[in-house]
Amino acid sequence: MKHFVLTLSAATFLAAAPGPAPAQEVNRELVPVTGDVFLMRNNFHNSLVVRTSEGTVRIDPINAEAGAWLNDNLGSIDAPPVSHLIYSHSHLDHASGGDAHAGAEVIMHEDAPEAVDGVAATRRVGDSESIEIGGKTFEMTNLGPGHDNHMLVTVVRPENVAFIVDVAAPKRLPFRDFAGANLDDWIGQIAKAQELDFEIFAPGHASPGTPEDLDDAMTYMQDLRAGVLAGLQAGKSVDEITADLTLDAYGDWGQYEDWRPLNIQGMADYLQREGLVN
Ligand SMILES: [Zn+2]
Repeated sequence: MKHFVLTLSAATFLAAAPGPAPAQEVNRELVPVTGDVFLMRNNFHNSLVVRTSEGTVRIDPINAEAGAWLNDNLGSIDAPPVSHLIYSHSHLDHASGGDAHAGAEVIMHEDAPEAVDGVAATRRVGDSESIEIGGKTFEMTNLGPGHDNHMLVTVVRPENVAFIVDVAAPKRLPFRDFAGANLDDWIGQIAKAQELDFEIFAPGHASPGTPEDLDDAMTYMQDLRAGVLAGLQAGKSVDEITADLTLDAYGDWGQYEDWRPLNIQGMADYLQREGLVN
């Protein structure tokens, strides 16, 4: 009986989780990942928060309100003020409001813009760089073009947590229609992330997972590409492909209902735009 009740609760939670929050309500929390590594949730976006003996290292500011909230709540996890702010990339839904952490070292890839939401880097890194901060190692790797043109994945050691933003998320479909990205480059970004050595996949969206979740995200992209390409080559319309390419293996992933048709549309647009159908 107890098991039954727990199962019901879990089902209720899972059913409620993907829905949009009411307009003014922002759900924020610090979720322990492992060791000194936390995910800060801000509705559907995550920052990585790492306690070190030199200060707290944060990856991605999200926005000014998220930064102010984090500053007010670092004490709840016995973390010192933010001393370093790393940017995974420069899309403003992840990269706004960095000035919430005045005085912090601001680290961006060398191809990132001069300033992101008015915040300039104080240190720029190349395609593969490792920085020691307060007893932790931050290994940054540029995944290259695809989703943005300078996507940094950071692996934190000794916890072996990889913070991977937007190119993949555990058990969640990619966002909408890929916004005109080159999707073979995007698949290449996932492949590059797969080469990294880590134990926990901490994402910019959704909940933490494993390296296997990254492998599954790659398989999804390959299945999507192959299915859409076969449909286009058979002369089907995008509507017909959407009806046929149900991608059932991913039916329990987040945003499956809403974003599968948009993922198909985006992949079809990409393949046609790049002349890859014949
Ligand atoms: Zn992005």
